Amino acid sequence: MTGMVITITSGKGGVGKTTATANIGVALAMLGQKVVVVDGDIGLRNLDIVMGLENRIVYDIVDVVEDRCRLRQALVRDKRVGELYLLPAAQTRDKSAVSPEQMVRVCKELCEEFDCVLIDSPAGIEHGFQTALAPAHKVLVVTNPEVSAVRDADRVIGIIESQGKGPAQLLVNRIVPARVRKQEMLSTEDISEVLSTSIIGIVPEDEAILTASNRGLPIVLNGKTPAGQEFMRIARRLLGEPIPVRPPVELSWWQRLFARE
Ligand code: ADP
Ligand code: MG
Repeated sequence: MTGMVITITSGKGGVGKTTATANIGVALAMLGQKVVVVDGDIGLRNLDIVMGLENRIVYDIVDVVEDRCRLRQALVRDKRVGELYLLPAAQTRDKSAVSPEQMVRVCKELCEEFDCVLIDSPAGIEHGFQTALAPAHKVLVVTNPEVSAVRDADRVIGIIESQGKGPAQLLVNRIVPARVRKQEMLSTEDISEVLSTSIIGIVPEDEAILTASNRGLPIVLNGKTPAGQEFMRIARRLLGEPIPVRPPVELSWWQRLFARE
């Protein structure tokens, strides 16, 4: 098997990389893919928490590259959906603990067994970002409808292209349709005008994401929420389905109520 490595990055921190990695990973597994999500944010790890797997970690990626265990032993299986695994980050080490070459080696081994390898990149453009980028076959850049996030995304997209890893695709996260309508928030058109990058999906602001993350239940497991549904469409688009990208529609209060569990 030769899997595809997808790196999820952003430049700016806190825009939704970990949320996107967890949800796209779960969605791909729900679609029958054999998936591993790799926490590339060494030192800060939180993909395990968002996925609800933190209590089951024994070894991590640093143990793998430093030969304290085999790759298989470090993988934590998510028993809720099909074939989904987590390769956790170390909490007590810094981002230099895994080199880009080591990440490439780990991903090569993972690609022999998995269809999709998703890497949750740390913020910034330093060492940890380079490590997460090195094995990528495809790169998703997450941004929010804010000028600072868009500017950082622009910078990162440039670096990705200059390293021959482009063209990156853009995931616009936390759009609030009502605020876009009132012109209080950048629209997806504003963003794509600045970035001239193709868009893989537009995820609405959804307060249920915070609760879902705290409970370790990625929102895509709740098929009723607009954010969960868009993460599922993003997974389908990644698999090549021609699903048009549309901005989220404005929901009435009762539709929002209905979308919660
Ligand atoms: P990053 O990994 O880029 O630092 P996270 O995925 O940890 O970002 O998200 C940062 C915060 O934003 C978290 O508290 C998360 O729950 C919240 N968040 C992410 N996406 C959304 C969304 N679409 N709607 C509401 N909150 C969101
Ligand atoms: Mg993160």
